[in-house]
Amino acid sequence: MSIRTGAEYVRRLRETPREVWVKGRRVEDVTSYGAFHRPMRQIATWYDMQHDERFAATLTRPGAAGPVGITFVVPRSYEDLVARRRAYQAWAEATLGLMGRSPDFLNTTVMAFADSPEVFAQMGRRYAENVERYFEHVRDNDLFLTHALITPQTDRSRTASEQADPFLHMGVVRETADGLVVRGARMLATLAPIADEILIYSLPGLRAGDEKHAAAFAVPIDTPGLRLVCREPFDDGSSNPFDHPLSSHFEEADALVIFDDVLVPWDRVFLHGDVSLSNALYTATNVRQHTGHQTGVRGLTKLQFATGVAMRLAQAVKIDSFLHVQRQLGERLSLIEQARALVLAAELEHETGPGGSVRPRLEALQALRMLLSQEYPRVIEVLQTLGAGGLLMMPSAEDFASPIAPDIDKYYQGADGMPSEDRVRLYKLAWDLCGEAFGQRAVQYERYYAGDPIRLFATNYLTSDKTKCSELVDTALALSGDPPRSPDARTGGDTSRAESPR
Ligand SMILES: Cc1cc2nc3c(=O)[nH]c(=O)nc-3n(C[C@H](O)[C@H](O)[C@H](O)COP(=O)(O)OP(=O)(O)OC[C@H]3O[C@@H](n4cnc5c(N)ncnc54)[C@H](O)[C@@H]3O)c2cc1C
Repeated sequence: MSIRTGAEYVRRLRETPREVWVKGRRVEDVTSYGAFHRPMRQIATWYDMQHDERFAATLTRPGAAGPVGITFVVPRSYEDLVARRRAYQAWAEATLGLMGRSPDFLNTTVMAFADSPEVFAQMGRRYAENVERYFEHVRDNDLFLTHALITPQTDRSRTASEQADPFLHMGVVRETADGLVVRGARMLATLAPIADEILIYSLPGLRAGDEKHAAAFAVPIDTPGLRLVCREPFDDGSSNPFDHPLSSHFEEADALVIFDDVLVPWDRVFLHGDVSLSNALYTATNVRQHTGHQTGVRGLTKLQFATGVAMRLAQAVKIDSFLHVQRQLGERLSLIEQARALVLAAELEHETGPGGSVRPRLEALQALRMLLSQEYPRVIEVLQTLGAGGLLMMPSAEDFASPIAPDIDKYYQGADGMPSEDRVRLYKLAWDLCGEAFGQRAVQYERYYAGDPIRLFATNYLTSDKTKCSELVDTALALSGDPPRSPDARTGGDTSRAESPR
């Protein structure tokens, strides 16, 4: 097989019944379930885009058995990185950057893992082969993955092995001839109910004693014993797109993943029992550069979209004629330029690995991760500030067809005769983005998708190359020379010592 169509993606979901729980009930068929139906259609659209002549050249490359998704292709030049950026951008713009876990994100992860077999080979050659075979399986079947890298927030002052129940955080209970048996929970698997498979590994942070919790593997979502507990959906599939234009299209379900003694076959195990290798995985495989490229381009799109909404909102009632509003919007536009510059810098200053593959520059992408975690919440605050009370007095779609329609038309119009329908549509879009639960999740996503931003900044301080900053300070310190001191001051007033021979 090679690239899938949307229909093929949906068919596979239907044919692989999985254990998904929402609001106390088990979902019989995720493909027809209200809360999952629209996002599933969006994922199907991404797959269809690969077959669309307007996007095919951007999203695919020739493979041995037909075209494959470009994000599975290991980049070997600057031009390849630019081509990947264009593909990330095409997919991000299809959802205005609002769906963070589009297939390209984890396609890129498995590509990065497979490009670093030597890391997994430290466990033994067969683990590297497992990773390479798994990458081919995902690429050749064009599968949609989710992932869960984090332990549940039970007691963060203790490691996984120190929790009251040693298998509260997912860990390996035993090894059998067939594979590993894993038990316990992981978070936070976005889009897991409508994914094909789940990839498990850990961000750095495991400690000695956590050996049972050091495991990297992948299994299909319909594996026996794997259970998904979803958060309450924002949209059950029945909300009117006029009232909720974003949440009715782009909601990504989030789930806790419970492994109830799940058997992971040996050929799906990439690492186990080695805490230091597990901690090294994220950096040694360069996965964070490659995923940072995808998330940076997607985040830039979301920043552009949110800034655009703030701008159009200001124009609708002409508050953009005020200086402080212009200043706020001007600042937002300059941040877009900063984010764009970081993407371009990461590509231009790429590094080449020993095998000839290239990766974008880490420092620029980490700076972009930090920038987005702060600046996306700020643009949402600008939107709330500029929209003010207007965001909260918009009528419903039904009001336009009611006896009070003339009132709506009269009192909800904008500046320069902007029709009420256009103004209400725009303000509802803005409220979905900055007020509704959907919008708040989108903020939380930007803060946390790349891990805890506080520790991201702190790690940046600890690990960055600070040579140039220090050198400049030394240059400046040298300008001042030594302060004048009296002989008395040098000896602290002890004249006998000052006069004694050296
Ligand atoms: C919308 C959304 C979607 C997500 N999707 C995914 C996904 O698809 N897959 C996935 O794997 N993950 C996903 N995540 C999870 C994300 O990776 C985590 O939220 C992130 O790593 C932070 O971990 P946490 O939420 O457990 O917060 P915690 O690590 O528990 O942090 C909570 C607070 O406590 C502080 N804190 C906790 N521990 C420490 C410590 N040791 N030292 C200092 N401060 C500490 C933090 O600074 C923070 O303020 C998603 C998150 C969100 C919000």
